[in-house]
Amino acid sequence: MTAPHTVTAPPVGGPSLPQERRLVTSIPGPRSQELLDRKAAAVSAGVGHTAPIHAVAAGGGVVVDADGNSLIDLGSGIAVTSVGNAHPAIVAAVQEQVAAFTHTCFMVSPYDSYVSVAEALNRLTPGDHAKKSALFNSGAEAVENAIKIARKHTGRQAVVAFDHAYHGRTNLTMALTAKNMPYKSGFGPFAAEVYRAPLSYPFRDGLSGAEAAARAITLIEKQVGAENLAAVIIEPIQGEGGFIVPADGFLPALVDWCRANGVVFIADEVQSGFARTGAMFASEIFGIVPDLVTTAKGIAGGLPLAAVTGRAEMMDATHTGGLGGTYGGNPIACAAALAAIDAFENDGLVERAREIGEVLFSRLTALQQTDPRIGDVRGHGAMIAAEFVDPATGAPDAALTAAVAKAAIAEGVIVLTCGTYGNVIRFLPPLSIGDDLLHEGLDVVAAALARH
Ligand SMILES: *Cc1c(COP(=O)(O)O)cnc(C)c1O
Repeated sequence: MTAPHTVTAPPVGGPSLPQERRLVTSIPGPRSQELLDRKAAAVSAGVGHTAPIHAVAAGGGVVVDADGNSLIDLGSGIAVTSVGNAHPAIVAAVQEQVAAFTHTCFMVSPYDSYVSVAEALNRLTPGDHAKKSALFNSGAEAVENAIKIARKHTGRQAVVAFDHAYHGRTNLTMALTAKNMPYKSGFGPFAAEVYRAPLSYPFRDGLSGAEAAARAITLIEKQVGAENLAAVIIEPIQGEGGFIVPADGFLPALVDWCRANGVVFIADEVQSGFARTGAMFASEIFGIVPDLVTTAKGIAGGLPLAAVTGRAEMMDATHTGGLGGTYGGNPIACAAALAAIDAFENDGLVERAREIGEVLFSRLTALQQTDPRIGDVRGHGAMIAAEFVDPATGAPDAALTAAVAKAAIAEGVIVLTCGTYGNVIRFLPPLSIGDDLLHEGLDVVAAALARH
């Protein structure tokens, strides 16, 4: 006889999984602990984990572990499974593609799905100018290629990134990323010709968008010089840096300045893209049209895929053979992306992200009324965060943040932290989560906060 909650192999995920928080052991349970012990012995200590579980299935709004626990997923594997884990259309598309062919290398023998993804990206990204795309494997790789394209197009070298920025973990993207621990410490030297400008961070700088933009532009003009500058790269809403939403007017002023000075404006929408913010791309919220857009994370429901999309004349500035990679635009990942993009466009997911955002925002601001340790609630759509502070001084409270997140996970709710000061809990639920689970997840977080 099997216990009712024992997961039998092969596990099946997707939306038909029971949509419930269910704890049958403590977290981690014995089977999860067994995997964590093997991980500690076999996997580099440099690779950490947030939830101490052994995942075996996921779908809708839950992640199920090997002990039979079902956890509410408020992280989507870092904003990746936005359409829902093991989405049936993605499963079918991947199964069909994997049986047809697994790889040719697009640079050797091109195939339809890569071109179709490029067409979809050219159509969906902001602006109605002529666009082209190139596909890669990871967000960091897309960012690296966007910089390559901007340098080739402008004939200039310098790149400006912002305080609190996160653009990846490869050498160039480490240089672009702001935060030392854990992303950069000891990994230098970093790529040259990267400069950092101050962001608009309304909760902490109190500046209007215009004031913050003027501050950044002055620094760029005095310390870099427009004539040396290939690109400005920015996340329209920052991800790892703390879900910082710039003040109104900040991004349009930067775009205007870039355009007036022949500088390529790159929106890194790796985390904020694909319906996450209640718009297909966060740039739309601020009324900006970037020259280049980088995408990854939500693009293919969990298959590794990334892209650079932008003005056709910039995308074509590179000599033939200058862009590419063995796996970039892998056919299985492209098949998944086409199914995911269809779901984003035709299953009302932009609207669903807005509804989720209303629940998150209203619940967290209500909590803020009774608990002044929540200094700020911010974000758009299903990309909302709470910043925790010492109410007396406004100083970041990373210890409280870590304790609340840890307690929520122990109670069966996967939440992620972020922020330069480690004092932000970010909510990134899959757009396939139901309202009941969302509310229950927030109840658990609120109760954990009340206990600390
Ligand atoms: C995650 C992230 C990246 C890096 O993506 P990887 O796929 O992990 O390389 C780059 N930019 C932003 C904004 C991200 O959130």
